[in-house]
Amino acid sequence: MKLSRTGIVILVAIFLSLMPFRAEAADPILVEGAMECETDLLIKELDNPVEERIGGWRYVSGEYQSIPIVVSVTSIGMTNAAAATTLGIEHFHPIAVINQGTAGGHDPSLHSFDIVLGAKTFDASAWISRAERRGADGRHIELMPTYYYDSNLKEDKAEVELTADPELLEVAVSEAGNYQAGRVIVGKISSSNIWNRQIDRIHFLHEKYGSSCEEMEAHAAAHICRVYDVPFLGIRILSNTEIHGEDFNPATGTACQQYVLTVIKSYAGRKAGKAQSDGRK
Ligand code: SAH
Repeated sequence: MKLSRTGIVILVAIFLSLMPFRAEAADPILVEGAMECETDLLIKELDNPVEERIGGWRYVSGEYQSIPIVVSVTSIGMTNAAAATTLGIEHFHPIAVINQGTAGGHDPSLHSFDIVLGAKTFDASAWISRAERRGADGRHIELMPTYYYDSNLKEDKAEVELTADPELLEVAVSEAGNYQAGRVIVGKISSSNIWNRQIDRIHFLHEKYGSSCEEMEAHAAAHICRVYDVPFLGIRILSNTEIHGEDFNPATGTACQQYVLTVIKSYAGRKAGKAQSDGRK
């Protein structure tokens, strides 16, 4: 059979589109932030930006140093974060999701501009009060789990804490040395629709549950990523801490985005390297 030139071009195009490393390279990293001061730099850094609304949520896609990125401006709060993450995953099929931005300090050793890499997240608004096991004060409360469908195991699960993707976390840790504006620690992010200024509650969440900081989106995004089995990491910078009387500083949002860009570059580099070596096998 003799193939025409067009036939050959079509066959080569089909072959290239089926090569696994090419398909993976084309899928973006979804980077989320709730507010303008948490997403403006990421958007500014994009080449060929394309902006769209899906439902009520804003997404800007493009490339950062040739790496495909979608910036999701989720708006504030858990419901917005869950919806924006669901639509973002369904629409853009990201290889990973990073939820990043500002937070309030729970760990007394942390100050504004310090960064928490969320090895774990939990929902600090999910409590159960059990009458049958009363504490000395006549009350007993404990955290309630997050309920989700594990699409790998094909079963319903309930866990209080969700764990970050180990590879994303490892990459973020490896970039810590390049961050000059503060410390970078591996910790736990407490999420809820609450801005909490009660100092004893802050100490309670830190001492009893190991919370490093609080914010209003990361665990909701982690929850959705768990259902879809998409690698997830929450990266949060302290923009305020009640413990040290440091008020909200929007400049921390910029510092966090700068750090996140280094993590994205390193993660994409690692993925591209792996795809290349897989391709050679
Ligand atoms: N201070 C801003 C409003 C921030 S609202 C203003 O005046 O406009 C809360 C947003 O900031 C959420 O997206 C949340 O993730 C983050 N955040 C920062 N510090 C927080 C804190 N101490 N408690 C809860 N959320 C916090």
